Amino acid sequence: MRRFTGKKRISRYNKPSFQRRRVCRFCGDKSLTINYKNTDILQNFVTERGKIIARRISGNCAKHQRQITKAIKIARNVAIIPFTSPVV
Ligand SMILES: [Zn+2]
Repeated sequence: MRRFTGKKRISRYNKPSFQRRRVCRFCGDKSLTINYKNTDILQNFVTERGKIIARRISGNCAKHQRQITKAIKIARNVAIIPFTSPVV
């Protein structure tokens, strides 16, 4: 782990793009609705491996993160979003 000095560089690039959005996107834009059928929005809160992105990273408020999580779990069960993806 310690040998990976390149890791620092990666985190420096990744952090601003995610953490700059501090305001919850759904509180800011009332026209956005959370629905399990709305894959375009849900995909933003899922990693490419299929994991749900944590609130501290996505910047959602607790209320909307709860709704997102529920919607993603429903979407997985109706096979709209994958539970996981094959090893990259
Ligand atoms: Zn919110």
